[in-house]
Amino acid sequence: MLLQFMVFACSDSRVCPSQILDFQPGEAFMVRNIANMVPPYDLTKYSGVGAAIEYAVLHLKVENIVVIGHSRCGGIKGLMSLPDDGSTSSDFIEQWVKICSNARSKVKTDCSDMSFDEQCFHCEKEAVNISLGNLLTYPFVREAVVKKTLALKGGHYDFVDGCFTLWDLDFKISPTISV
Ligand SMILES: [Zn+2]
Repeated sequence: MLLQFMVFACSDSRVCPSQILDFQPGEAFMVRNIANMVPPYDLTKYSGVGAAIEYAVLHLKVENIVVIGHSRCGGIKGLMSLPDDGSTSSDFIEQWVKICSNARSKVKTDCSDMSFDEQCFHCEKEAVNISLGNLLTYPFVREAVVKKTLALKGGHYDFVDGCFTLWDLDFKISPTISV
């Protein structure tokens, strides 16, 4: 049976995608990691994520990839708290969340007048947009999107007020990628 959805969600125990979106067994192929990030195509790094995307798109032929961010995400808070000098104090975590460092820069610039918590809230959504752009760096994803057999969607789950927001990939967010 072919699956309709591939879902990226945070490892955070409070945001189980099956519970949020009521997926039944057999409906969604899932990857969960720190801050629900999709790294760019790279044959030497991030092979676990690459293998999952390749399998979902080429073998399961999913029709949608949904990247779901969430409120009060510790990974995003970590990204927003990184020292500006680029130094790190963890073996893996900081290098991982830096996948979405462009989201951090955008929020720090556009939302400089906001509180840290509000900046984190915006970064949770901007990081999803970075991940959607990164998905297009995988040749088989781009090809399926161009053929319209695959749609990329962003989501944000606010577990404080129970609100789930869903949006389509905006190609304007990734101007360097032509489709
Ligand atoms: Zn999280």
